[in-house]
Amino acid sequence: MKNIVLFGPPGAGKGTQANFLKDSYDLVHISTGDVFRYNIKNQTDLGILAKSFMDKGDLVPDQVTIDMLADQVAKNPQANGFIFDGFPRNTFQAEALDDILKNYNTEVNAMIALEVDDEVLVNRLLKRGETSGRADDSSEEIVRNRIKIYYDETAVLKSFYEQKDKYYGVDGVGAIDAITARLNAIIDAL
Ligand code: AMP
Repeated sequence: MKNIVLFGPPGAGKGTQANFLKDSYDLVHISTGDVFRYNIKNQTDLGILAKSFMDKGDLVPDQVTIDMLADQVAKNPQANGFIFDGFPRNTFQAEALDDILKNYNTEVNAMIALEVDDEVLVNRLLKRGETSGRADDSSEEIVRNRIKIYYDETAVLKSFYEQKDKYYGVDGVGAIDAITARLNAIIDAL
């Protein structure tokens, strides 16, 4: 079983790349942002709660997110492995992920980070906002808040996985297929 955390700031291209990787390696792709957006669309209690945080670019509370992630893993007992996209976002969530995977006698094999400069991110996100309809991509203030939260809370995960010898950084700028090839090279060598 290969479990991969696809990591990087908002707008780094995690969703795009996860879609290729899940097909190439027969992995289940879990994007916590996508699950929240699905719940918002269907106006579930979880969606209503998540929306109040997401619209400002803030993180949804940890326990809510962790319970939701555990449910998504439990729904896929036959999985060959998972690509976690947008989770974990802090150390508490990373420890929770270890605990969840332990229940299935498995673990995170690698965190692969897409590295992209901030100004490229802001431009990508605002451009995506023109067509995605995502409230959190629609204003520069909210986009910058998301990037700030990434540096304040999420970026520390680099050292969390480095200490376990599981961190791999990849240049996230360039043609989409060139970036996919960089990711494939890392996963093939795992
Ligand atoms: P994303 O699609 O990963 O950019 O996530 C969009 C938004 O969903 C984030 O800005 C958060 O509000 C929320 N979200 C997604 N994943 C998490 C997570 N692991 N922890 C807390 N909030 C999250």
